[in-house]
This record gives sequence, C-alpha cells and structure tokens, in this order.
Amino acid sequence: MDPQENIILAVICDYGARVRGKGFRAKDAEKIQAKGVGLAYSNLMITSLGEIVDSPWGPRGDVLMMPDPGTKIHLQADGDFAAEQYMLSDLVHLDGTPWECCPRNWLRRGIEMLREEFGLSLFSAFEHEFHYSGILTGRGSAYGLDAWRFQNGFGQHLVSVLDQCGLEPEMIMAEYAPQQLEIVNAPALGVTAADRAVQLREITRALAHRRGEKATFAPIMPGGTVGNGVHIHFSLQRDDGSPCSYDPDQPYGLSTPFGHFISGVLAHMNDFVALTAASDTSYERLQPNLWSASYNNLGKQDREAGVRICPLSGTNPEKSFNVEYRAADATANPYLALGAIVWSGIDGLRNSLTVPEATDGDLSQEVVTRLALKKLPASLSDALDLLQKSAPLREWMGSEFLDAYLMNKRSELKLVSDLDFEEKKKLYASCF
Ligand code: GLU
Ligand code: MG
Repeated sequence: MDPQENIILAVICDYGARVRGKGFRAKDAEKIQAKGVGLAYSNLMITSLGEIVDSPWGPRGDVLMMPDPGTKIHLQADGDFAAEQYMLSDLVHLDGTPWECCPRNWLRRGIEMLREEFGLSLFSAFEHEFHYSGILTGRGSAYGLDAWRFQNGFGQHLVSVLDQCGLEPEMIMAEYAPQQLEIVNAPALGVTAADRAVQLREITRALAHRRGEKATFAPIMPGGTVGNGVHIHFSLQRDDGSPCSYDPDQPYGLSTPFGHFISGVLAHMNDFVALTAASDTSYERLQPNLWSASYNNLGKQDREAGVRICPLSGTNPEKSFNVEYRAADATANPYLALGAIVWSGIDGLRNSLTVPEATDGDLSQEVVTRLALKKLPASLSDALDLLQKSAPLREWMGSEFLDAYLMNKRSELKLVSDLDFEEKKKLYASCF
C-alpha cells in the first residue's frame, strides 16, 4: 500500500468542537470497526485550547471510539501532502453500550425519540462562514466578484472535494468582510447533518493548509466586527419522507408540529445557548446590528432573529421551507448544537407550545416587553450558569454529561481569564 495512504484515524468531535483521534493501519479497518479504539474518559476534558484543567474522572475510566465507516473521509495525497483518512466515531462503554457523555450519541437519542414519539425526522444543514487568508482584497469587495477572483481557485477546489466526499455543496460566495467566504451544503437527515458540519470544517481547513493558507471559523476575527456565523437550517419530515413543515393556513406558514417544535427551541434557547455559542468570544457576535442574534425571538425573514423563518423558494417550496437558528458558531460541537435543537423541539411538541408572535426587525423595548423576549446571555460564563440551572437540559443530557461539559467550558474560561479581548480573539482564531 502507498505509505501516503496507509493510516486511517478514528476521530471524535469533542466538547470543545475540536476533532481528535488515533490512527490505525488502513488494512486493519474491519477489525478496528468491530472492536473499537480505546480512549480515556478525560480525553473529553481536553479544552478547545488543548489543555485539561479539571476533570471529573481524572486518570480513571475507558471508553471505545467506534469508527462509523459511513462517515469516512479520504482526502487524496497531493504532492508533499499525505492522504488524510478518518472516520467519525461513537463513544461506547467497554461492553458496547452507548456512553452517556458522547455528544453524537446524545443527538442520536434525540433524533430517535422524535421519530418514536411523533413519527418525525429532522432535516437540517449547517451554513458556515469563515475567513480564508488567501484572498488578497482590501476594502469594498463585499460579495465581490473580485474577492471571488482573488481567492485563486480555493473555492472551486473546496467545492469539488466536498462533492467527492458526498457533502453535497450547494453554494459558495465571498461574504461581507474582507477574506470572508460562506459555504452552504444540502440538508441531510438526523445525525448526518452534524457529521457533515464536522467534515466540512476539517476539509476546508485541510485544503487551506495545503495551499499554505488558513481557513478560520472563529466567531469573531482579531480586529474585526463581522462575525463568522454558523446558521443551522432545519425542517421536519414525516416517516415516509414527505415534508411537513409548511402549512399556508397557519401563522407564518408554520405547520402545527413545526410550530410546536420551533416554540420549544425558542423557549429553551437562552438556557442552551452555551451549547451553540461555546467560547467567550462567541458573545461578542451575539449583539444587535451584527446580523447574528441577540434575543430568543422568532423573526420573519429577519437576519437578526434567534430563529429566522426563511422565505419559500424553489420548485418544491413545501420541501424547501425551513427556519434557521442563528445563535451558533463553530466553537460549538455540531452534535451538541443540533442535539439542543432536537431535544428542545421535542419538548415543544410534547407540550404543544404556541408559536410566539414574530418580530419584523423592531426590537425596541416596547416589543421586547410585549413579547416577553429574553436577551441572550452576555458572556459564556452567564450562558453556562443558565445551562447549569436548567432542569430540562439536565434531564435530557443527564447530570454526568451536563456537569462534564460545564467543567470543560469553565476550564477553558480559566485558561483565558488573564487575556484581554483582542488577545482572546487572536487565540480563538488560531484554534478554529
Ligand atoms: N456574519 C453574520 C453572522 O455572524 C451573518 C450574515 C448573514 O446573514 O449571512 O451570523
Ligand atoms: Mg452569510
């Protein structure tokens, strides 16, 4: 076997949204898929900055990474660059039962519950913004053809590799800020949508690296104010694959089940935002006038809404009708972010929650008070306090998992506590 192609990694996306794992020989793949790869519990306590500060488990405890062959990515070797092969993994106990603290497992349980209780599936896509260091434009190139030209074929290369890897890229563009790009891929069912988010970030970073450049998904860049958002688009389907999110006779076109689901997301959003905007710098992005989100509001085609109702479009509007959750960024683990949406949506369905009035761009004090909107927490520390106090999130995640996540994130906050904001932005830009 070509030595460039001989290693596959079993990887996980951890609480800090970093992808870490261990390599094995490609020729042992079948054996490894059956028996797994050992990992210490405390590997999950590595913060996104790379250090373990506190851990509930210390040096004790073993789980297995079970690589999922359906998620295998194979970037071909290219010149001096060896091939990259990896499979996303589930974390299970040594007896093969799912580990309660595995993010992918938590999302899967939510997806299964949605199907068992309501006969519904979640269809979703993560839209990513990022900065690519190889674009040589200055001012004035927002959405520009010149910005596209000066990225020198990186975007074309990225789309073709994403296509080869089965991620179904749909759209790519130069975004608003200098060096900012956006990539959108097709929605997928269940856990696959979150798998694609993990894969897309890694493939993008890898291809940038191969060009001697850097793709950065940090929520706010050093010196910058325009954020890199991750917008999570979602809709519901019935068991038979038919769409069931749109109903022209209901307010805002939201079908009854979709309305309940979204209302659950909005009701719990402030409590779970630490799972979707997961770094200290994330909260600089979640401010008014940045086209992100700063309240738990529903917005009709309003790009400053917590959840935005997207316009009907395409040849099959019933199928394409969707909403987007806007308070997410790439410092959040996609399984946790989508898991928070699914579990909250189930709660909305169970309690038949009523769709709140949608805002239309006016978030004056009068509107905020009348609609009882809640401002999103101002910092990760505040967001973690809300998550800790949320009895529903504790029930859905289980205490061991929730407390481990809180400890991981509070450890990360300790590591950056001496830095000023600009230094934090630099640090996160170097990690994401
Ligand atoms: N860059 C914005 C964000 O941080 C989003 C802009 C847009 O609506 O595409 O979410
Ligand atoms: Mg955008």
